[in-house]
Amino acid sequence: MAILVRNLLVSFLFLILALFMGMLWFMEHRHPSQDYSELVERLNNDQIATLEFTGNRVAFTDREKHTFVTTVPDVGKFLERVKEKNIRVIVKEDRFTLIYMTAISVFIVALVLIVWWSLRHKDDEDESTFASDKLVGQDPADLKVSFDDIAGIPEAKEELEEIVSFLKSPDSFRKIGATIPRGILLQGPPGTGKTLLAKAVAGEAGVPFYSFSGSDFVEMFVGVGASRVRDLFKEAKKNSPCIVFIDEIDAVGASRSGGASAGGQEERGQTLNALLVEMDGFATDEPIVVLAATNRPDILDSALKRPGRFDRQINILAPDVKGRKKILEVHGQNVRLDPEIDFELIAKATPGFTGAELANLVNEAALMAARLGKDRVVNVDFEKARDRILMGVERKGMVMSDHDRNVLAYHEAGHGILANKLPDSDPLHKITIVPRGMALGQTQQVPVSDHPAFSRQYLISKIIVLMGGRAAEELVFKQQTTGAQGDLLTATQIATDMVCKWGMSPKMGPQAFSIDSGGFIEGAGGRLPMGHDTASFIDQEVANLLTECYAEAIRILKREQCLLKNLAEILLQVETLDGEEFDIIVECSMKKEAAAIEEPGDTCSSCSARDHCAEAEGVVDEITA
Ligand code: ATP
Repeated sequence: MAILVRNLLVSFLFLILALFMGMLWFMEHRHPSQDYSELVERLNNDQIATLEFTGNRVAFTDREKHTFVTTVPDVGKFLERVKEKNIRVIVKEDRFTLIYMTAISVFIVALVLIVWWSLRHKDDEDESTFASDKLVGQDPADLKVSFDDIAGIPEAKEELEEIVSFLKSPDSFRKIGATIPRGILLQGPPGTGKTLLAKAVAGEAGVPFYSFSGSDFVEMFVGVGASRVRDLFKEAKKNSPCIVFIDEIDAVGASRSGGASAGGQEERGQTLNALLVEMDGFATDEPIVVLAATNRPDILDSALKRPGRFDRQINILAPDVKGRKKILEVHGQNVRLDPEIDFELIAKATPGFTGAELANLVNEAALMAARLGKDRVVNVDFEKARDRILMGVERKGMVMSDHDRNVLAYHEAGHGILANKLPDSDPLHKITIVPRGMALGQTQQVPVSDHPAFSRQYLISKIIVLMGGRAAEELVFKQQTTGAQGDLLTATQIATDMVCKWGMSPKMGPQAFSIDSGGFIEGAGGRLPMGHDTASFIDQEVANLLTECYAEAIRILKREQCLLKNLAEILLQVETLDGEEFDIIVECSMKKEAAAIEEPGDTCSSCSARDHCAEAEGVVDEITA
């Protein structure tokens, strides 16, 4: 309301000012202007009948009764000259400037008053919007979420079951004198189900759910956030038992010692203080549980984690392969699935996917099936949806020269062969030269099972595989292309982490030189303080590691030149091979190699495994059919 009134007043004010200015302009330009010299000339020629002065502006009328206006530089001197002439002189008071200045001043004062008034009422406005929109707890029946809708995070569910029991029957806890935690902090990467879990607690316990985002409390005006926190807890107390959920609590609960602009810092500090006071303020047996979620526990103010506040912290991480399968099953219930669907295979092929990404995968697969007019979702829809999520949309219209396609095929074949030949490497899942998203081609590997930790040998193999694309280009075309950019970046990151984080450099020994921040989103953390010499040793070690891996990639690919050539040729023909098809072709090549040993004259330059291998031909025929 205040905003509407302010806008109306300001518009009205501008309208009045515009009319007033228009009027003044009209008055000012009633008569045409003339130069001062024209006035003097006519005066000398006795052509002037009347002179009307307003300050140093003069309107002069000639004998033909035409009136003009001009400005006189020195009115006193001019009047001296006029004295001897027979001219009627009228002198008027200069009200014009006075009116003009008064109008502008009134306008400025009115504008300031309106802005001041609307700012004063903004708080009320925000408060009332906030109050009406947010301070109504959601009915648990409307939430429609229970623990059955959540999969893959059994430990978190178990921890929260205790809270559900407390909210359902607080008396049984009171009787025995048990104190339930007031605040529980759910911390983990985005999309792992923290919000879902909070809703499920309210749904299971059948209590109202008050949901806020930390940013709801952060306002430009100091004190607004704090008063919102107080209102929220007042309302929650009235409606207990209930759940108060604060998502992205880091927006308001970030450490007060962190840097921020003075005003923003003061507002956040006050809001955080209000939150701390409110959490201390409700009695321990009051059945209110505050759940908060964050991706950045590392930046939270330590006062928040003090006993009596968010003293219980639950880590919610991306699910493992078993968890992924269960999440797929939960979301699969909402779509029509082919009975042959293999969620275990899909779960294996989606390492690192969070619950939200898996929910998205199921939906994308359903969309894919619907687009193709199918009546149920099959395995291949999931495979296509996965590619779309991981690599982006196929760039069907992209035009590539034969040479570029050739280089790309060798590049991907290089990755593929190294993935196959290195014993510690993850098996190959798919290899393609179809451009998608930002990538021209892709070689995907999928681990047999999730890696809880990585060995040095595994990481070295990973770097060697990453070097495979550039190595194949150099070996075959004696050239380097920008296509290796992403590979080199990832390889450098792994090598740097090996040296700096995981103590895997023999020269640097078991030391760590950088840290993760403890947050769950990328980009946080950094190197620990170190001397100049140490920093250059680290850089040298990273460079050595990468160069050695590159040399190894070249060595293996030189040895496997026949396979490289065959694989690149087949890729140019079929564009995409899955893991199984790829293995058949590699086996063929090995047969050929064995044959070559029997026929020592046969060299790689003349080799063609497919000529000797019916299975490889079969793969190509099947795909191209
Ligand atoms: P953020 O940190 O970005 O707020 P979040 O951890 O709160 O994310 P949610 O909003 O709870 O993530 O999850 C988003 C969606 O992902 C859910 O609505 C649900 O469909 C799906 N989802 C996430 N985790 C799970 C899970 N463990 N089981 C089933 N579905 C899940």
